[in-house]
Amino acid sequence: MIHEIISVGPLQCNCSVIGDEASQQAIVIDPGDEVQQILDLIEKHNLQVKQIVITHAHIDHVGGAMKLRAATGAPILLNQNDYTLLKMLDMQAAWVGMRSPGKVEIDQSLGQADTVRAGSLVAQVLHTPGHTEGSICLYFPADNKLIAGDTLFAGSIGRTDLPGGSYEKIIDSIHDRILALPDETIVVPGHGPLTTIGEERESNPFLLGRRP
Ligand SMILES: [Zn+2]
Repeated sequence: MIHEIISVGPLQCNCSVIGDEASQQAIVIDPGDEVQQILDLIEKHNLQVKQIVITHAHIDHVGGAMKLRAATGAPILLNQNDYTLLKMLDMQAAWVGMRSPGKVEIDQSLGQADTVRAGSLVAQVLHTPGHTEGSICLYFPADNKLIAGDTLFAGSIGRTDLPGGSYEKIIDSIHDRILALPDETIVVPGHGPLTTIGEERESNPFLLGRRP
């Protein structure tokens, strides 16, 4: 697996470019901004982008999606429960002081247990509401990797005080769907450093003291 992670935009969203070495097909996750840098990585590895996956409809994760779609022809995939948030991009832009990317069109919704493929790469979709209603994670079982969006961070969890957020739901999502994965799974959060499921199970202060 080819896997490049770059942090993009003023909020430093982790954008993943994940490619299959044999077929050179790729998935780009959360192209929030700095699309030219993402395209440079795609070119460096000679990849063909087949899917653009958005973990949730916050501007720092979705802001560059339309530009990337225009450059690659790949469809944009997002869980339908975040379509409302997507219509609030102008408001989100004002909150964080970014320029609005304009209207973002979704080509297909992704839900629990759907799969996303590029060549021989297969990712399972985990619907993990809480940070937003439509938050998803992508799990690549063959490579022990989880792209977690803003649901789980190293030592923390996603904020739940924005529209569509729910503390109850994020805790349930993490326990039911994310902590069900093996300890050795590498977690790539939406912001900040990488971690593992085992590390978070052991020491994340938001996950201790419940369902041992
Ligand atoms: Zn977010």
